[in-house]
Amino acid sequence: FSINMSELELAEELGRGNYGTVKKVLHRPTNTVMAMKEIRLELDEGKLNAIIMELDILHRAITPEIVEFYGAFFIESCVYYCMEYMDAGSLDRLCGAGVPDPVLARITHAMVRGLRFLKDELQIIHRDVKPTNVLMNRKGEVKLCDFGVSGQLEKSLAKTNIGCQSYMAPERIQGESQNNLGTYTVASDVWSLGLTMIEMAMGKYPYPPETYANVFAQLSAIVHGPAPELPPGYSEEAEAFVAMCLRKDAAQRPTYSELLEQPFLVNDRTLEVDMVGWVAKAIEYKNAHRVASSSGPDGPPPSAP
Ligand code: ATP
Ligand code: MG
Repeated sequence: FSINMSELELAEELGRGNYGTVKKVLHRPTNTVMAMKEIRLELDEGKLNAIIMELDILHRAITPEIVEFYGAFFIESCVYYCMEYMDAGSLDRLCGAGVPDPVLARITHAMVRGLRFLKDELQIIHRDVKPTNVLMNRKGEVKLCDFGVSGQLEKSLAKTNIGCQSYMAPERIQGESQNNLGTYTVASDVWSLGLTMIEMAMGKYPYPPETYANVFAQLSAIVHGPAPELPPGYSEEAEAFVAMCLRKDAAQRPTYSELLEQPFLVNDRTLEVDMVGWVAKAIEYKNAHRVASSSGPDGPPPSAP
């Protein structure tokens, strides 16, 4: 079915990124709560149909580790993209109180399965793996969003600022500077996966901007410095897993099938992990430590026990 704005009842803002705003909405005809992302585009009417056609592949991205796509529409120079609402929000704001080893394994497992699905079933490389693009709900489910399905959309983005947190792999940073955009492979997503795991464990981005004099120094550390490591307290299996993902030489990084066979994820298959309990605590912590941020309100308000 198709969705249009007149069918939607707008609710609160869920967050804000570089290209637009995500709002909670109610789709009245189906009584479905959704998340609607508004993406401002550099106006180019001729490209709109190409984008809608490219977005159509999202209707085939149906698997437990991918956020469900409901549909997209245009108004003037904005794309409105409706997807499954994830009521626990993104990982960047869920990991404040820390992530125990088994929870890290469970989240990583879901991410690897999601990435492998995109690659094997849809021939898609995610290209934007980072904590804000990994969403959770109160059922304890972990799902990926915002993967690169539309080259046309990518080209039309109204790029207002470049983030100061780069999850780009070293080879991509070097490739960009050589204007060599064709070098993106799954290995670059594997790097971003490793960096995302470290951010979850540390509760902050591992190359903090305040450590570097400027963005050049920061990117230079990613390319030339040693790869970051998990903080103390994680298992050897976890350390080994992250170290493989963050091999500086892209060709040496494991494939998704190889990652699924690593002890860190093999052990997870037989472990009992209380994800529902962890998410509930993580949301409680996030609401208690709510700070005024540029990303808008911090998830759902605290609910009564
Ligand atoms: P960037 O623009 O650099 O990609 P971002 O991923 O944070 O950063 P958006 O994709 O616009 O930017 O998302 C903004 C915020 O909205 C996210 O950080 C996330 O917390 C929230 N969000 C996005 N999609 C959903 C969703 N489906 N359900 C619930 N919250 C969401
Ligand atoms: Mg996003």
